[in-house]
Amino acid sequence: MAETIFDKIIDKSIPAEILYEDDKALAFKDINPQAPIHFLVIPKKQIATINDITEEDEALVGHLYTVAAKLASELGFAHEGYRAVMNCNEFGGQTVYHIHLHVLAGKLMGWPPY
Ligand code: 5GP
Repeated sequence: MAETIFDKIIDKSIPAEILYEDDKALAFKDINPQAPIHFLVIPKKQIATINDITEEDEALVGHLYTVAAKLASELGFAHEGYRAVMNCNEFGGQTVYHIHLHVLAGKLMGWPPY
């Protein structure tokens, strides 16, 4: 599978503002924030898109949400709320082909998101 910029963030060959790390996942601030708080939660395993998630990844993908919720609580925006969203392929607006959960907070989100 092709390397992406996120592999370089995982191996620390390029810098990022890391908020959380464990053996399976990494969370870091988005370089181009779309809300007052905007970070990404990614698996360390290379998975290109939502379409490439398999049954064996189910616990890992669930873990991304657990990390998002833990950070929401620690950073103090869990109660007021936030959006956690994953884009898929061109029409979903995906630009980096390593799955990532966007966590956006600190403002009232609109719906629909276009
Ligand atoms: P996508 O469009 O694939 O859903 O989201 C990719 C996200 O990755 C974008 O919000 C973009 O700003 C972010 N991003 C792309 N390159 C980098 C980088 O080098 N560092 C960080 N921290 N974020 C990045």
